[in-house]
Amino acid sequence: MEELKKMPKSLYGMKPNEILGALGLSRAYQGKQVYQWLVRCVAGFEEMTDLPKALREEFASAMPSLTSSNVIDEQTDSSGATKLGIELHDGAIVECVLLTDKENRKTACLSSQVGCAMGCTFCRTGTMGLIRNLQAFEIIEQFVHLRRIAPDTSHIVFMGMGEPMANFAEVIQAITYLHDPDGFDIGLRRITISTSGVIPGILKLAELNLPVKLAVSLVTADNRQRTEIMPVNKAYPLDELKKALLRYQHVVGKRFTLEYVMLHDQNTDGPSAKKLANFIRGLDVMVNLIPWNPAAELPWETPGRREIDSFTRELDLLGVPYTRRFSRGRGVNGACGQLAVELKACDTNL
Ligand code: SF4
Repeated sequence: MEELKKMPKSLYGMKPNEILGALGLSRAYQGKQVYQWLVRCVAGFEEMTDLPKALREEFASAMPSLTSSNVIDEQTDSSGATKLGIELHDGAIVECVLLTDKENRKTACLSSQVGCAMGCTFCRTGTMGLIRNLQAFEIIEQFVHLRRIAPDTSHIVFMGMGEPMANFAEVIQAITYLHDPDGFDIGLRRITISTSGVIPGILKLAELNLPVKLAVSLVTADNRQRTEIMPVNKAYPLDELKKALLRYQHVVGKRFTLEYVMLHDQNTDGPSAKKLANFIRGLDVMVNLIPWNPAAELPWETPGRREIDSFTRELDLLGVPYTRRFSRGRGVNGACGQLAVELKACDTNL
């Protein structure tokens, strides 16, 4: 019973020496052994065959699951995207998605918060409001659950529920853990942080000079329209956002991405293209064009093929570098901006 009281919620996020202390192990190498089993995403202590049997049994009864969270729902659509519903230790629910591209590269799309306070009007998560921040181990555990489905998952994007910059410290802690060359060893260049444009977060990321990729959700380069679509623009308007991006570029010296969610009849005409071209002047960016992913409760429409073609012709004329993203995960509401769980399902009382 003594061990039961001392068990942490999760061993994920801990370094080998911290595991050693948390489990009260006497031999230093055992901390490393447990750490390595965690990285292999085993289900329980029973599988840690290089630990003495008595220890395995003792820990397994005190901590039957190695994760504090459980997968309560799994759905796969025709694009091969798999969305997991994950129940956290306090009953709150988050979602994460496994995306597979044409080259069979597997990317884990992780959430950083339960819900989100940013209220972007094109995003289902924005309708939930913020319920709470995730702790680093809860972010890491999403990756573990996806790795159990696809052990070759090699990339991570923070494009699930939540604004990563609003939970900066825990996100960076999770990234540091997932990057550990003795652990999951996910290269920093294989990790993307996506933000709605929270300037202090962009500047902090620049200060850290961590070579992760940055993606900024722009949606429109018209300041008034952006405030209507993305309330974050009130606090961090476009001219200040551009200054922050120039600073980021100066310090980090890396190309970043501007996510441009295309909304029918809103941001896909000639003037929108010109404003976008003006905004990116001086920035080393790739614009990622994403047709809005439909959500019945939201007031927008997806542009048709012709509308998108006409917009990209304008961008070509203006010399705007862009890619057109094919939406994966739509069939499970797991595409960009589609993640949301029923508020009723979150019983956090927080
Ligand atoms: S797009 Fe991102 S920042 Fe905006 S409401 Fe959705 S989850 Fe939050």
